[in-house]
Amino acid sequence: MTDPRDPAPPRRLSILGATGSIGTSTLDLVQRHPERWTVVAVTANGNATALARTARAVGAELAVVADPAAYADLKAALAGSGIEAAAGPSAVIEAAARSTDIVVSAIVGAAGLAPSLAALAATRIVALANKETLVCAGNLFMREAARREVTVLPVDSEHNAIFQALETRNMAAVAEIILTASGGPFRTTPLERMAALRPEDALKHPNWSMGRKVTIDSATLMNKGLELIEAHHLFGVGLDRLGVLVHPQSVIHGLVRYSDGSLLAELGSPDMRTPIGYCLDWPVRRPTPVAPLDLAALGQLTFEKPDRLRFPCLALAEAALAEGRGQPCVLNAANEIAVENYLAGRIGYTDIAVTVEMTLDRAIATGAVADPGSLEEATRLDDLARRIAAEVVTTRIR
Ligand code: NAD
Ligand code: MG
Repeated sequence: MTDPRDPAPPRRLSILGATGSIGTSTLDLVQRHPERWTVVAVTANGNATALARTARAVGAELAVVADPAAYADLKAALAGSGIEAAAGPSAVIEAAARSTDIVVSAIVGAAGLAPSLAALAATRIVALANKETLVCAGNLFMREAARREVTVLPVDSEHNAIFQALETRNMAAVAEIILTASGGPFRTTPLERMAALRPEDALKHPNWSMGRKVTIDSATLMNKGLELIEAHHLFGVGLDRLGVLVHPQSVIHGLVRYSDGSLLAELGSPDMRTPIGYCLDWPVRRPTPVAPLDLAALGQLTFEKPDRLRFPCLALAEAALAEGRGQPCVLNAANEIAVENYLAGRIGYTDIAVTVEMTLDRAIATGAVADPGSLEEATRLDDLARRIAAEVVTTRIR
């Protein structure tokens, strides 16, 4: 019997950031059931070859590269396919605003904000992987989603777990929402070695395979800080009801503690196709190719408190969330600039937190750090923070 909650296929789907880690995991699920999906738009930054291959494989209507320099390659690679090609940031925004049932927002960084906002105008569901949208302009995004009656489903594994464990009818009884963190590759590294940690060490995540930026964020625990801000906007709770628990096995993804003493959790193999599949098929559940979790083989799960001295980025993000206004937006932009420079070998690992802290101080001193009320305000604040962070970086270059 068909489930009355299950919308009739095929459903119209767009994937923003289709060539990335989340994008390719999404496409893996979609390609297993082509009869269920009409792929409308796929977008990427500059990899025209990979995007064209993807667009052809799923028969997309439209493929867009953000980098105008990649347009000729995209056009050539799509020749004879009947798939439309376009380029430039505004073309990505237009692609996001094509009429769909669901948009997977999986661009990395604040570059995902404008397309995520644009998607709200022409879809019913946004499956949000791009946490930077909420960090940069969470009040704006959630307000627009509510106004347009768009459902925001969290792809991020912790938030997806919490979404599953959260009884929204019992929000007053929620004592704490807990995000788990693996602790990354440097959880037990001697502190005196931290300054010399190279990008290739930081890119070795113990459990998850992800894009480069989020992998570095996981090594500094900035990722968990960004996720606290993300959780605040998704679930409407303040820092007083948000917690972080280090859990090196990454089996429990998130927990909700209720006032009656119950602690509800979601467990699973560390494979993003579970939360992505959950969002794609919501409100029903369907099989995914993810290996079932064998708890007996795992034997034990362990937990620790996060070490904020070792991971100052977590404390900086918590302070930005507590202060509010535009501080999370500045924190995010500064972190993006710092991570980019760290990956390029220009600054050291410990300079990431220093850059973020100095940028926050200098940005606050300008008096321009207000909560962004529009995309234009968010873009202006993001630009300001990037300029300041770039200056700070020049003082840290080794
Ligand atoms: P990734 O680097 O693997 O892929 C990013 C995608 O965005 C690519 O398709 C790239 O072409 C596109 N892109 C990059 N810059 C762009 C720009 N300026 N304009 C337009 N498109 C651009 O990243 P990812 O790991 O897939 O992460 C995507 C988002 O999902 C991030 O916000 C990340 O924090 C979040 N997330 C990722 C994971 C994971 O397992 N990878 C887990 C949870 C959350
Ligand atoms: Mg996560």
